[in-house]
Amino acid sequence: MAVPKRKTTPSKKGMRRSHHALKPDAFQECPNCGELKRPHNMCDACGHYNGRLIIEPDA
Ligand SMILES: [Zn+2]
Repeated sequence: MAVPKRKTTPSKKGMRRSHHALKPDAFQECPNCGELKRPHNMCDACGHYNGRLIIEPDA
């Protein structure tokens, strides 16, 4: 089995993990109700997508 020749230094470990930060989720305003929603997803608040009512929102 292949085994690393040297211990990974704290510096190298930090360089590798420099890409690991989480980005905030994308969002946009619903054109129907103005609520924040995820792009390319139906609005959770009013049930609209692409200008159409997909499901009736909960009362
Ligand atoms: Zn909406």
